[in-house]
Amino acid sequence: MTDALKVSGLWVDYRTKSAWASAVRGVDLTVREGEVVGVVGESGSGKSSVALAIMKLLPANAKARGRVEVLGKDMVGLPGKDAHRYRGSGMTMIFQEPMTSLNPVMRVSEQLSEAVVSRAEHYKLEMFRYDSVAVPGGPDPRLSIPQGRPAPPPKEAIEALHQVRIGDPERAAAKYPHELSGGERQRVMIAMSFLLRPRVLVADEPTTALDVTTQAQVLSLLLGLSRDEGTAIIFVSHDILVVGQVAQRVAVMYAGEIVELGPTEAVLKNPLHPYTRGLIASIPSGFKGGKRIEQIPGAPPDIMRLPSGCKFNPRCKFAMDRCRAEETALKELEDDHFVACHLY
Ligand code: SF4
Repeated sequence: MTDALKVSGLWVDYRTKSAWASAVRGVDLTVREGEVVGVVGESGSGKSSVALAIMKLLPANAKARGRVEVLGKDMVGLPGKDAHRYRGSGMTMIFQEPMTSLNPVMRVSEQLSEAVVSRAEHYKLEMFRYDSVAVPGGPDPRLSIPQGRPAPPPKEAIEALHQVRIGDPERAAAKYPHELSGGERQRVMIAMSFLLRPRVLVADEPTTALDVTTQAQVLSLLLGLSRDEGTAIIFVSHDILVVGQVAQRVAVMYAGEIVELGPTEAVLKNPLHPYTRGLIASIPSGFKGGKRIEQIPGAPPDIMRLPSGCKFNPRCKFAMDRCRAEETALKELEDDHFVACHLY
């Protein structure tokens, strides 16, 4: 499989009143076509900053360094107007709160129609090489760029709402986002992704606000998108159990760094880093085999005052002198399974 997304040496710095502080420090990560990679960590671990840097959507007081290659194109060095063309066509993002992305004063049908138009423009612009994309015969002949705002919604927009299992798609299409439930809004966002057929999708806590049943359905829809369209998905979550249901590989982040990376089953069943072990021990069920729930002591560090050496050392029961003095680096301990810890 080809790498759809390649993040190399990514740093994200935020300007504060007194200085710059790094929320992401030297992250390397690849996602192949059709692969789902989970990025997991507590609040403040830097996982959402990685997601925003990939989409080139960092706030004005932040800057990214390093490389974020989407299908070979570096997003970090790309001018803003070109990055805008990539977003919504070659790559899209789903947020925890879909209202972040949906336009509150446009009906769902109009927004889905714009997705169809955006895809048509994308084909026309030939921004990506389609030689490796499953588009037999080139651009979809059903697509044309209509003049003005298209209405009623194209048949495929209604089909996309069917695909994401929204009851009565015609009724949902006629509504404004605030007239839908949170689960329906998230499904609309995924329907939009189905229409856009992005090569890369970044999903930041997409199921956190949903009930368990809707969460399972949304996860299944995302997996379908990855499997059927070959979309590479970065799935960001604080919940390692949810990541375990959807990702083929998982990256565990702590204090701006990846501290463990590997196949999901290996990481969940045989976690190597004490922080990963702590995350798994703190979930109420699943992979712990009936053991007692344990909380990781302490809190994540303030990025303005990171400890020396291993950033997890103040919370780690295995910490030794070397941990307080020497930085850690990822090393491969098992097949494709990496860990950054002085215990190994
Ligand atoms: Fe704990 Fe040391 Fe490993 Fe850090 S390097 S996780 S402090 S044992």
